[in-house]
Amino acid sequence: MPQPTRSLATICRDRAVLRAMYVVITFCFSTSLAFSQIPPTTVSAPTAATPHDYFHTGAGAFYLRRAEGDIVTETLRGNISVLFGSGANIIVLSGPQGKFLVDAGISVSEPKVKAALNKISPSPLKYVVNTHWHWDHTDGDGWMHESGATIIAHPNTLKHLSQSTHVDDWNWTLPPVSIGARPTLLVADKKNFFFDGEKIQVEYYGPGHTDGDLLIYFEKADVLALGDTFWNGNYPFIDNEDGGNINDAIKWADKLVERTTDKTIVVPGHGPVGTRAQLIEFRDMLTTIRDNVAALKRQGKSLDEIIAAKPTAKFDAKWGHFVIAPDHFVRLVYAGL
Ligand SMILES: [Zn+2]
Repeated sequence: MPQPTRSLATICRDRAVLRAMYVVITFCFSTSLAFSQIPPTTVSAPTAATPHDYFHTGAGAFYLRRAEGDIVTETLRGNISVLFGSGANIIVLSGPQGKFLVDAGISVSEPKVKAALNKISPSPLKYVVNTHWHWDHTDGDGWMHESGATIIAHPNTLKHLSQSTHVDDWNWTLPPVSIGARPTLLVADKKNFFFDGEKIQVEYYGPGHTDGDLLIYFEKADVLALGDTFWNGNYPFIDNEDGGNINDAIKWADKLVERTTDKTIVVPGHGPVGTRAQLIEFRDMLTTIRDNVAALKRQGKSLDEIIAAKPTAKFDAKWGHFVIAPDHFVRLVYAGL
């Protein structure tokens, strides 16, 4: 039997259905593309319409704004310096064999960081250790690798940098970094490097700020670089969604206090260069606030009630003025208990 001829109305209805399907598919596709969000390179003053996320109103926006200013170089001991102003602090060992860096800062300040490194010495970039996966510590990996550096990191850092990683607290999903920007020399536990006359110990103490934090100790100079397991004078971020939590952050701080002496120069991921006494103060602040929040939680109080009880009050004047405000820090502590 011949097929009946389709009426014009049927054809139009089918096309409308197809068009609707196309709109739905396009929407879903563009939503999945938006799932990985490329960080901006500039930031403008927030308005009522500014989205509330890491790169528009959060710490990322702060680092982008700071990167518009100058890089400040501070000489520590021996041939070790710190660069401030490109995301997290960048530590530089410079000598005849080249440069060994701790953390890569953010890529928007590449020309300024290059100039600051060349001012220290013309020796080439050889190694960069990523203390952990966060953007403000690793975004410069790509250009540093192109300049000749081998990127060193914990395997969990490589994992986060190789896939889309969403952080609820940031309301942002970082896309995987390019192949060339990924760490290729992995330290799962402990490794010593002998470079520029220094013995450099790279070690993992387990989860703390994230699940991939490494410490870097320059033995001869007695300089300890800690990434975000130490924030000197500021409440720290804790990446609860990627293996960090307050209890392990305190365990890290305890081990770091044990490992240092009064002569050790202690370099945080954020804040000025510090001392063992400041590390102890940081550890004690973390412990007291953790205990305060845990006690309120045990009493059955909700997160909102705990925030209202101000368990950080006695520390806020000193520690609450950087990218993590007191209420935010209480949320981060609570999430890890
Ligand atoms: Zn971090």
